[in-house]
Amino acid sequence: MLKTVIGLEIHCELNTKSKMFSGSKNEYEKMPNQNISVIDLAFPGILPLPNIQGVRKAIKLALALNCEVPNEVMFDRKNYYYADLPKGYQLTQMTKPFGKNGYLDIEVSGKQKRITIHQLHLEEDSASMDHFSDYSLINYNRAGVPLVEIVTDPVFNDEKEVIQFLESLRTIIKYCDVSSASSEKGELRVDVNISMMEEDAKELGVRAEIKNINSFNSVKETILYEIKRQTEILESGGKVLQETRRWVDDTKETVSMREKVDAIDYKYYVEPNIPVVSLSEEFINEIKSSIPMLPNERKEKYIKSGVKEKDANTIIRNVDICEFFENVLSLGGDAREASNWITTRLLGYMSANFLTINEVYLTPSMLVSLMNMVSSGKISTQQAKEVFNLILEEKKTPEEIVKERGMEQVSDIDEIKKLVNSVLDEFNEQVLVYKSGKTNILGFIMGQVLKQSGGKVNPSIASKILNEEISKR
Ligand code: ADP
Ligand code: MG
Repeated sequence: MLKTVIGLEIHCELNTKSKMFSGSKNEYEKMPNQNISVIDLAFPGILPLPNIQGVRKAIKLALALNCEVPNEVMFDRKNYYYADLPKGYQLTQMTKPFGKNGYLDIEVSGKQKRITIHQLHLEEDSASMDHFSDYSLINYNRAGVPLVEIVTDPVFNDEKEVIQFLESLRTIIKYCDVSSASSEKGELRVDVNISMMEEDAKELGVRAEIKNINSFNSVKETILYEIKRQTEILESGGKVLQETRRWVDDTKETVSMREKVDAIDYKYYVEPNIPVVSLSEEFINEIKSSIPMLPNERKEKYIKSGVKEKDANTIIRNVDICEFFENVLSLGGDAREASNWITTRLLGYMSANFLTINEVYLTPSMLVSLMNMVSSGKISTQQAKEVFNLILEEKKTPEEIVKERGMEQVSDIDEIKKLVNSVLDEFNEQVLVYKSGKTNILGFIMGQVLKQSGGKVNPSIASKILNEEISKR
């Protein structure tokens, strides 16, 4: 039996204001070559200056991914020649990166798995290129944008684990506000290394590396394609080549780019123009304290407070939703009820209308008022659903809506008694049927009570009074 082995290299652009080693803006620009400076264009004699925000964000992510962060780091030159790399080398980290030996726990089909992270380092992005039939264009806006690379160990065994890991990683990146991690803008790019081996083999199989995949869906398709391709080769007695491939989305296949005989020798050496950067314990601790509570921990907390696991998984996907939910709790809202409102109604409304939580009119305190109206019997659950929609559509508070529409539930005993008796008078025939032993008819009479109250009567109180009054007849 063949087993699949996968390791990932993930590149994530950091959301700093300026680039990693120059003062150019780090901003997604539609116009090419707007955010550029002599440093990004590699003019002779330039001196790179590390961006402290880039350093902070790299450390923040390393800590959030449980990496060991050393007390000093260095930048190295990785030498290679390509049109999108004007300096002829990339500033990256080889000798002393920001993070080593981290991990992230994921859950797939109810089973926990620890994905170990070999290393996290900081580097600069290259320029981007557009290729046409007989010419190519270079856009330097991306040249020098801070880029974190996360390298996992070869520990994934199928596409589900990979996708779950990538989803969790993206959530953490967003929680930490180190990147908006948008696949469309190419802010998160994945290299998939994949090989097959016999279940009991001692050594890993020969791998193919599929570079620069933009969307998680393509990652999944790439893995499934490669499993099939490599299995067919191995089962027919062939050998998988160690090569670099790329995913072609149009034809849904991977194609070879180049054979990788041995690791390329990049002649790394320490960048002489940047001194060793010392990281004091104080500095690292300050960054640590800026990390918000992470998804896995929140999930556990929510489940303990009564939220269903499925709902907890939905809420933790977005830190803004977490904050909304936690604000509801701190205002005294019930956790289970609140999570139910959020996952079944609020998120549906948001996605149907392309709104974020900060753009909807509903606030945590409005949701708490609405829930209180139900628990105190002021309005019924059915009415609450209507009020909920009206808050969002008419941009009014629950109090205003309930008042304007006279939705208050009638809980006054005397008033209900009066209503019940007038219904019993009107439907005397049905009362006689009831008295003759066909007690099922009570449902019909109750229905009349609710109908005549315009749905405003508190059903449980009304049902109790109906039973009392009918027995007196
Ligand atoms: P390189 O620097 O040549 O790309 P590394 O050894 O640093 O090679 O590994 C890069 C990535 O490839 C890592 O994510 C690692 O987990 C993965 N990897 C290494 N060997 C294998 C293998 N045999 N099968 C699948 N993935 C592998
Ligand atoms: Mg690699």
